Amino acid sequence: MEWLGGCLCGDLRYRVSGEPYWVGHCHCVMCQKISGAPFTTGAMFARDGFEWTNGKPAYYQSSEIAKRGFCPRCSSHLTWENEKELGIFAGSLDQPEDIKPISHIWTSEMRSWVKLDDGLPRNQGEEEPGS
Ligand SMILES: [Zn+2]
Ligand SMILES: [Zn+2]
Repeated sequence: MEWLGGCLCGDLRYRVSGEPYWVGHCHCVMCQKISGAPFTTGAMFARDGFEWTNGKPAYYQSSEIAKRGFCPRCSSHLTWENEKELGIFAGSLDQPEDIKPISHIWTSEMRSWVKLDDGLPRNQGEEEPGS
């Protein structure tokens, strides 16, 4: 499967091939701050299937383990990256309906006014491998 996406203004475009190994909702405070929304929805892929096909992102190192790629013109946040992993913020996909979230993570930081009834597993922190 090949996935295409990009930012709001169109300067940044990307392509990623393969199936995501995790898709879900992250309620961590960093995701809240960077998106301006109560949580983000991300799809994690192996790094080597990903390429920018138009434009170059700016990066913000949001923690010791990851940097976040965004459009320097329109500020859309597109990626969460480190040397091995690459997460795509699902709203930037051309066809976001095609992803299937499987869980919530960092619900310890979830806002009290977010009400969930999707029945998906919730993890207080990062998802444990195999959970
Ligand atoms: Zn843009
Ligand atoms: Zn997060």
